[in-house]
Order: sequence, then structure tokens, then C-alpha cells
Amino acid sequence: MDRYQVLIVGAGFSGAEAAFRLASQGVRVGLLTQSLDSVMMPFLPPRPPFPKGSLLERAYDPKDPRVWAFHARAKYLLEGERNLHLFQATATGLLLEGERVVGVRTWEGPPALADRVVLAVGSFLGARLLIGEVEEEAGRLSEASYPDLLEDLLSLGFRFVEREGSVPETPSTPGYRVRYLAFHPEEWEEGTFRLKRLEGLYAVGLCVREGDYALMSEEGKRLAEHLLHELG
Ligand SMILES: Cc1cc2nc3c(=O)[nH]c(=O)nc-3n(C[C@H](O)[C@H](O)[C@H](O)COP(=O)(O)OP(=O)(O)OC[C@H]3O[C@@H](n4cnc5c(N)ncnc54)[C@H](O)[C@@H]3O)c2cc1C
Repeated sequence: MDRYQVLIVGAGFSGAEAAFRLASQGVRVGLLTQSLDSVMMPFLPPRPPFPKGSLLERAYDPKDPRVWAFHARAKYLLEGERNLHLFQATATGLLLEGERVVGVRTWEGPPALADRVVLAVGSFLGARLLIGEVEEEAGRLSEASYPDLLEDLLSLGFRFVEREGSVPETPSTPGYRVRYLAFHPEEWEEGTFRLKRLEGLYAVGLCVREGDYALMSEEGKRLAEHLLHELG
């Protein structure tokens, strides 16, 4: 089985951006995500300004702001990168060799192995979606949040804080809120993106800090630059 130089879990705004930049610089990247139908899927149409030269900027088309169309353009650009392997799987836990992370276990069975693993799982850790009186385990409308990865991280001692985001009502969807867990600020090192408890493990995006799409994309690029520096 191929071993990636960098494996990114979650093809949302930060993970996809980081993967795109790393692959364009010749790094062998695995981008593993729960559903290929929701790669870089916005809650609401992204609005400029965007970071210069970002995947977010390239996938944006002011003439067609539909969220599905934006997602399709981003996925097409990612699939065009020859060093990037985008695939569907759900990470259920970390694979360790001593104190070093060497990949992830997946719900589907085959492990994904890598020298460095990045968690970019957005609002999907312990997520609860609330629409009126209805509550479901989902990180986004119609996208389930499974408990396995969180349970594994908790068993390894990671600490979390509670966060919440909301989506206003639109003509086609009801308003709703998402409650989720993000890594406790003391678990994460902002300058290096490292989750300090283990070697070879990093985190980016909403699972470590709050912000809009442009910030998530900026953070994905910043992580990529840091990893490029580490990889020499
Ligand atoms: C409810 C809500 C509404 C928001 N609305 C806006 C908005 O309108 N405009 C704005 O600028 N910002 C908004 N934000 C803020 C933020 O910019 C977005 O949430 C953004 O999508 C976060 O990017 P991300 O890369 O961290 O995660 P996401 O874009 O959420 O991507 C995470 C990805 O990880 C995948 N994943 C999760 N767990 C696993 C696993 N175990 N295995 C494999 N894959 C996994 C998911 O399927 C998902 O594709 C909102 C946030 C929330 C919570």
C-alpha cells in the first residue's frame, strides 16, 4: 500500500486548500474525506475577498454562486492534481507507532498510512445539528457525524471545548445550528499546527480555531507552507 508524505483527514475548506498547495509543490498527499459529494461544500455561497491564488478563489464563479456548483468546481481542480489522491473513507482512529502517528484506521477497513497526519475535520467532532425541536448527529445538513474518531482521541487524552455555529434560513433550507467540539487551545500549537500530545499529528481549520471560509483557506495555505518547510 502507498504511504503518503502527508495524509489530510477532511476535504473541507482548510484541508482541501492545504492538500492542493502541497500537491502543487510535488508533495505526495492523501486527502481522505467522509463523502466525495461534500468536498469543499459551503453552508452558504462563499463571498469574496479570498486569499490570492487559493483554491477557494479559483473555484469561485460570481456568475454561479450555487453551493453545489462551487463544490463541483473545487473537486474538479483537486482531482486534476497528479500528486493528490482524493478518496472517500471515514477515519475512525489514529494508527500509532509508539508516540508517533503513522496513519489512520478507517471505517471501510483499509488503513491509510503517512509520515504526517493532519486532522481537518471541521464541525464534525461530537456534532449535534439542531433544527427547531429536532436534534441529529450531523456536522452539516444531511451529513452524519460518526463518534469513532472522537472516542479514539478522547481515549488518547485529548481535551476539547464546545463551539456552536448557525446557518440562517434561506428560501431552500431551514435555519439551523451546529454544536460541535474543537480541540482545547492548549492541545494545539498555532505556529506549527502540531497537536502536541503526539508526534506527526497536526490540525487545521474549524476543529482548532473559529473563522470564515477565507480564514480557513488562509490557514490551509499557511499549514502547507509550514509542512513544505518541515519536509525541506
Ligand atoms: C453551522 C456553521 C455555519 C457556518 N457558515 C459559514 C458561512 O456561511 N460562511 C463562512 O464564511 N463560514 C461559515 N462557517 C465557518 C467555517 O468557515 C466553515 O465551517 C468551514 O466549512 C470550516 O472549514 P473546515 O475546513 O474547518 O471544515 P469543513 O469545511 O467543515 O470540512 C470538514 C470535512 O471533514 C470531513 N470529515 C469530518 N470527520 C471526518 C472523518 N472522521 N473522516 C473523514 N472525513 C471527515 C467532513 O465530511 C468535511 O468534508 C460556518 C460554521 C458552522 C459551524
